[in-house]
Amino acid sequence: MAQQLPRMVIIGGGFAGLNLAKKIDKSRWDVTIVDRNNFHSFPPLFYQIASSGLDPGSISFPFRREMRKGSVRGVHYRMGEVMAVNTEQKWVETQFERIPYDSLVIANGTTNNFFGNDELLKRVFTLKSAAEAIRCRNEILDRLERASICHDEAERKRLLTFVVIGGGPTGVEMAGAIGEMKRYILKREYPELNVDDVRIILLEGTDRLLRTMSETSSGHALEYLGHLMVEVRLNTLMESYNDNIVTLKDGSTIYSETVIWTAGVTAVPITFQGKQPQRGPGNRYVVDEYNRVAGLEDVYSLGDVCIMPTADKPKGDPQLAQVAIQQAHNLAKNLRKGSWSIPFRYKDKGSMATVGRNRAVADLNHINLYGRPAWFTWMFVHLISILGMRNKITVLINWIWSYCSYTTSLRLLMHPNRYPLRRRWGE
Ligand SMILES: Cc1cc2nc3c(=O)[nH]c(=O)nc-3n(C[C@H](O)[C@H](O)[C@H](O)COP(=O)(O)OP(=O)(O)OC[C@H]3O[C@@H](n4cnc5c(N)ncnc54)[C@H](O)[C@@H]3O)c2cc1C
Repeated sequence: MAQQLPRMVIIGGGFAGLNLAKKIDKSRWDVTIVDRNNFHSFPPLFYQIASSGLDPGSISFPFRREMRKGSVRGVHYRMGEVMAVNTEQKWVETQFERIPYDSLVIANGTTNNFFGNDELLKRVFTLKSAAEAIRCRNEILDRLERASICHDEAERKRLLTFVVIGGGPTGVEMAGAIGEMKRYILKREYPELNVDDVRIILLEGTDRLLRTMSETSSGHALEYLGHLMVEVRLNTLMESYNDNIVTLKDGSTIYSETVIWTAGVTAVPITFQGKQPQRGPGNRYVVDEYNRVAGLEDVYSLGDVCIMPTADKPKGDPQLAQVAIQQAHNLAKNLRKGSWSIPFRYKDKGSMATVGRNRAVADLNHINLYGRPAWFTWMFVHLISILGMRNKITVLINWIWSYCSYTTSLRLLMHPNRYPLRRRWGE
């Protein structure tokens, strides 16, 4: 009888989980990915879903299709949202089943952080999943359509006030994308609307945008958003958001029915029974330099959900796709060797953000790029990183089409159908 391989369960098939599944030695491990979605997606382009630039299918990839192919062949997929882990009896539990493990890898990423004001969850639009991005897209399109048939000027202006909170890459890219709609699409496709009625306000709590990038990049991003008629307010913190009124720390207010929150992340919560993992800032799992979770045996954590404080980087590495991918590769190498001999060191290849057509900033290792060269670099890097040839081609065609036509054909407002009634899975 064939010997049973040790079972490795990976929670989350994002950049970290899927890359580990690719690199792990499948002749030594029986690997299962558990993910609440049946597809891998590409968060850096969620803002393009929200702004109708891309459709969700072109940046998502079904796990089961991926698992037919070479590097992930033999890995199993199970749909489910992991809610509990028992570290003594070694199982994880989803809303559907209990799955035993010999080794566990927690790679389930992060979710929105409302910094204690969890009521915001019900009121703001967010971009942490493809589903959230679609809701955001529908909302923006709904506002434009409703404003087009509204005869009351004050009401129309209210409908067309968009507030984006957080001046990091996601906030900047999202505000820029709505700014592009205002600048290029409104006049042609919404002739009933006056461009000046649309307000896009980006709020950032510190004194500059894109704080993790160079000051020059921050300056360029600010300038580009200005071209796209986005009002940027630096050193501005939101105090509360009730009854469609954004109240700022200085007491002033902005009326907006569409607030897009990109301001913070926290670990996706999982309840632990038995021995508890050590947690760091943002509820992230503290790991050593081999990605082993402090305080637990046979449990590893990768990507956004973990933090690896070291002497030179007490706050760990940034929560970026490259960090998640490199950690996954490093863990696979150590497991393959069967010894903890290769500590993780992040090789920073640079960071970039785009602020609409021909406008981007890129801080690369030896060179900083701005404007069109940065924009083409940004497109190239994202294109090669998307999973699946069909997806790459679809995205490229969409981008070329929008580039030449200054528009997209994806501004479809598809409301979900109410019937037949279904209990939401997971409840
Ligand atoms: C809008 C946005 C823009 C970004 N832009 C950039 C960028 O330009 N460049 C960059 O480098 N990084 C960017 N990032 C960050 C980057 O996406 C993350 O660093 C990266 O996705 C981390 O990979 P991960 O595998 O740790 O987590 P994720 O990619 O988030 O994957 C987590 C997986 O776990 C699943 N999951 C979550 N909870 C559970 C659960 N309880 N049970 C089962 N499955 C679960 C999710 O469905 C998901 O598939 C961006 C992120 C966002 C949200």
